[in-house]
Order: sequence, then structure tokens, then C-alpha cells
Amino acid sequence: MRDLTFEELRAKVEAMGERPFRAAQIFDWLYKKRAAKFEEFISLPKPLREKLTAQLAFGALELDDKRSSPDGTTKYLFRLRDGEHIETVLIPAGSRLTVCLSSQVGCKFACAFCASGRHGFKRNLAPSEIIGQVLVLETTIGRGLTNYVFMGMGEPLDNWTNVEKAIRIMNAPEGLAIAARRITVSTAGFVDAFKQLEALDLQINVSISLHAVSDRLRDRLMPINRRFPLEKIVGAAEAYIRSGGRMMTLEYILIRGVNDSLDDADGLAAIAWRLRAKVNLIAYSPVEGAAFETPSEADVARFRRWLEERKVGTTVRLSKGADIAAACGQLAGQFKDKGTSRSKG
Ligand code: SF4
Repeated sequence: MRDLTFEELRAKVEAMGERPFRAAQIFDWLYKKRAAKFEEFISLPKPLREKLTAQLAFGALELDDKRSSPDGTTKYLFRLRDGEHIETVLIPAGSRLTVCLSSQVGCKFACAFCASGRHGFKRNLAPSEIIGQVLVLETTIGRGLTNYVFMGMGEPLDNWTNVEKAIRIMNAPEGLAIAARRITVSTAGFVDAFKQLEALDLQINVSISLHAVSDRLRDRLMPINRRFPLEKIVGAAEAYIRSGGRMMTLEYILIRGVNDSLDDADGLAAIAWRLRAKVNLIAYSPVEGAAFETPSEADVARFRRWLEERKVGTTVRLSKGADIAAACGQLAGQFKDKGTSRSKG
């Protein structure tokens, strides 16, 4: 049921021989009243509720575990119907409450610094499994969120059909009515889908996980770079901006002695200038099995100053929740490492 956009649901309802306004009623129960099962849709005639039950899966997510860090970051582990796990991270910062959404079970791209990539790829998430992360979190904490970022497990542009549907349901006035500017899609540089991103025609934010400014280093850190080298990514990003896309952000994980030199900062400033992008620096947070080190605060500050002196808007994102394995893919990875597919007890 939650796999359908409003337009798709209206077509489905009409195909069932029902009047189109029933689609608005159903969306109202799903996304405004947040009903948990078809029987609760009491404004709908019973025969229609029975038809819905027979023809459409409700598509709810099961919360399996939850861990909070003293800094307020909370990691939610969801068990999917096929026993796979995904994770969703809630990050409070001042008045902002950001949710980091997963788009795939695992990831194909095996970035050297990322837990998700180490465990390989299982499957794409359905739109309902993406939307479900938002619904369960908002219901659990009892309030709406302020920012929705596709930066959890998976590469969202590699599952664009389903991520796009989820974004449309999130943004639709009949759905969750979340403003497009509060939604961010972060890509490792899956250039094939940039054209589709342009076609979305919604003012969502796009960020590129860059992490290296030479193909030589990026090939090593992010194997996706062998397929889509830097110049291709930057060229596709320029075309996206020319087509009317919003300003981009470059995400850059600073890894001690690997990509934190001032030459790297110069290369990053040059790309940021080309894209008129701002830069978000993140100090590397240790991932089990990866032999990288976190830079010192002084090194992060020096790198930031260097960018700012070159008039590049720069923020430093604190690596939150390290004590609860809040780096991308770590909690689900722990379950996988144990070889368990935990069921609720
Ligand atoms: S950083 Fe993103 S693209 Fe790279 S392995 Fe992790 S989830 Fe995949």
C-alpha cells in the first residue's frame, strides 16, 4: 500500500471500480492519521476495506532494536519481512532533528571507510520500507522531524525508482507534506541517475560524497570511482545545477594522513568553486576492520581554515554516536557479523 504514490493509488482505486476520492481518504488514513491496519480506515465502506486487504500489503516496518548515545543520537534497527535488517539514525542538533534514512540492504560499492559496503549488497528497499522508517521514528518520538537525509545504508541513486517514489510520497500534500528543501539525497557519484535527478523537478538538496580529489586516491577509497571518475561526476553535477537544481554540498570525510593535506584542501576548494558548492567536513569515525585513523581536532580546524581562506563555505559535522556504532551500516553489520537474524522476543 505504501509503495504507491498518490497518483498510482488513485489509478488503482479506479481500477477496483471505486470513485477517485477514495484515494485521498486512504492517504489520509495512511499518512495523516497514521493508521496501523486497514480495519482502522472506518470512513471507508467495509467491502472496500476487504478489497484493500485482499489486494494490497499494508507494508509496516518492525522495530527490532534501538540504541541511544549520551549525545542524543539514536540508532534504530528494523527487521524486514524477509529477515534482513536495516538501520536508521536520528540525530538531534539544537532545534534540528535529522533522520538518516537507508535506501538499500547493504551496498554494492564497498567504500573502504564504510561499514555498509563491507557486508555486500542484498537488495533494494521498497518505497514502503523507506517511508516506514520515517513513520516509525515520528510515531516513536511523538513529533515530526526537521531534516530527512538519504545517507544511511545504500546508494540512493542506485535504487532511484523506489527512492523517487518515497520522496514523492513524503513531499505530496496528501502524503507526509514534507517540504522538498528538507530532503537531501547523498550520492557517492552514481552518474547514470543524475539525469533522473534532474527530471524529478523537486527542489530537494543533493550532496556528493567526495572524500578524495584525485582519481588515484578516490579509486582506492571508493571503487565506484573506477566506473564514474571525478571529472564525470563533476560534469554531471554541473549539468544538474544548470538544469535548475539547488546548490550542492560536498561531503568530505577527513582521514588522517590519507586525504587531509593542504594539497587535498586545494583540490577540494577547486571542485567546490566549480560547483559553487559548500563543503561539509566529517572527521573519520573508526569502522571495525578498516585501518584508518581519525584526524586531530587541530588538523580538522587547519583544513577548514584553508578552505575558508579560499572562500569556500565550510561546516564541520561532528561524528555523533560513535559509542552506538552510528557510522553508516555499523549496527546492522553487527547483527550480520553475529550471523543472526533476530526475531522479536
Ligand atoms: S559510503 Fe555509501 S556508497 Fe560507499 S559503501 Fe557506504 S553506503 Fe555504499
